[in-house]
Amino acid sequence: MSKADYVRGEASRNTTFDHHCHWPGCTKSVPPAMWGCKAHWMRLPLFLRREIWATYRPGQEISKTPSAAYIEAAKDVEAWIIKNVPPLERGMKFDL
Ligand SMILES: [Zn+2]
Repeated sequence: MSKADYVRGEASRNTTFDHHCHWPGCTKSVPPAMWGCKAHWMRLPLFLRREIWATYRPGQEISKTPSAAYIEAAKDVEAWIIKNVPPLERGMKFDL
């Protein structure tokens, strides 16, 4: 089974979850096997999406043990967002 099949399968199987988009300020619920909501995932540059995808290991969201490489990739994403996205676009406006 490919990673993509796994994530798609998890997304349709696991519909009760307490996990939200990793975009700062976004409160949208997304399946644990996914990094974030579609809109925000697509806002990330391709090289970061590739990095997350390459380091993601199917099942890590269940075992809660992502690899060090995945954690690094997630940090890169966070740093990129802080550097490239104005605070108002980080979803904070929805908190007002
Ligand atoms: Zn989001």
